[in-house]
Amino acid sequence: MSRRQPVLGILGGGQLARMLTLAAAPLGVRTYVVDGAADACAGQVGPLLVADYGDAEALAGFAGSVDVVTFDFENVPAEAAAGLAARVPVYPAPQALAATQDRLAEKTLFRECGLDTPDFHPVDTRADLDLAISRVGTPAILKTRRLGYDGKGQFRLRTSDDADAAWAALGRQAQAHGLILEAFIPFERELSVLAVRGRDGDFRTWPLTRNWHTDGVLALSLAPAPNIPSTLQVDAVRHARTLAERLDYVGVFALELFVRGGKLLGNEMAPRVHNSGHWTIEGAHTSQFENHVRAVLGMPLGDTGIRGPCAMFNFIGNLPDPSPVLKATDAHWHDYGKEPRAGRKVGHATVVAKDADTLRSRVSSIAEALGRQEQARPAVDALG
Ligand code: AMP
Repeated sequence: MSRRQPVLGILGGGQLARMLTLAAAPLGVRTYVVDGAADACAGQVGPLLVADYGDAEALAGFAGSVDVVTFDFENVPAEAAAGLAARVPVYPAPQALAATQDRLAEKTLFRECGLDTPDFHPVDTRADLDLAISRVGTPAILKTRRLGYDGKGQFRLRTSDDADAAWAALGRQAQAHGLILEAFIPFERELSVLAVRGRDGDFRTWPLTRNWHTDGVLALSLAPAPNIPSTLQVDAVRHARTLAERLDYVGVFALELFVRGGKLLGNEMAPRVHNSGHWTIEGAHTSQFENHVRAVLGMPLGDTGIRGPCAMFNFIGNLPDPSPVLKATDAHWHDYGKEPRAGRKVGHATVVAKDADTLRSRVSSIAEALGRQEQARPAVDALG
């Protein structure tokens, strides 16, 4: 009898599905990706079904040819997730996805689980916006409750005088997706904790990551986050565990946090592998991608310890000349095979060092060779 390899179905065919496929192969796991776009970059490394997520017939056929389904994005239409879950195990479960798809439900959940958040208020009408401003104060950020990511669907208000402009920018989305006004937090640091929970409840985290965003998009990560009091690491892990258990979560997720006055505030939870965990591919004993595959297929989880301190540069819009990274023994190049386009994540590079001092000097010199000194500066300063 021939051996049957498990097949992991992935909804969404971007770079996260591509890196999941690459991590699945050594485990003997095949992937099958579904995406609406024929040029989805995961299709370059494994089989791709081109279908709309609203195409129930295509999704039923897809469900019939895989053992487990997972996602590379969180805004999976609820009907698609439910339709799949009726046919095949889906991890994370549709109810865990739903809890993180709406910023209002998500922040409410954080507070119920004992994780503070920026003050917030729902906004459905122009009058609600004035009320929300009086409750939350300014500066503040108006965000769409659903379907926003990477800083999209957001408007920053410096004072209440910006209310009309904010409504002009996002008011039309109020009816379709709902809006939320959040207090703007002048945070000291932005951190994320990457966590994984297995089908058997085994729970692990990678060390805290420090992140810097440009225009709402991740530009740079450092792991482990340098100079962080151990209490913050302990608190972050406790919050991640509480949320994972509350949602009966299976797979990898990222909890994005602000540090303000030495305390953690919850920003959002991404129910999937996450950009701020890309450093784990070379920097940890088991990457976020491999542990996600293991978790959703019910395999034992791997060690989340690190090989050394890491820095990850994101490439947005276009890629620099890769030569400086390709020539270095301690740096790793990732080209997602995507067409360059403004604001699009097209690749990343990770530097792994033996200690923080070495990382600082290697990040400096590699960034200079790439022409990315400005992007790397916060990491160089934080490691100094
Ligand atoms: P989000 O899509 O909500 O994660 O927002 C993208 C980025 O915008 C975050 O990573 C922060 O850098 C920034 N941001 C979002 N919400 C806030 C807030 N309430 N206060 C300060 N900065 C924020």
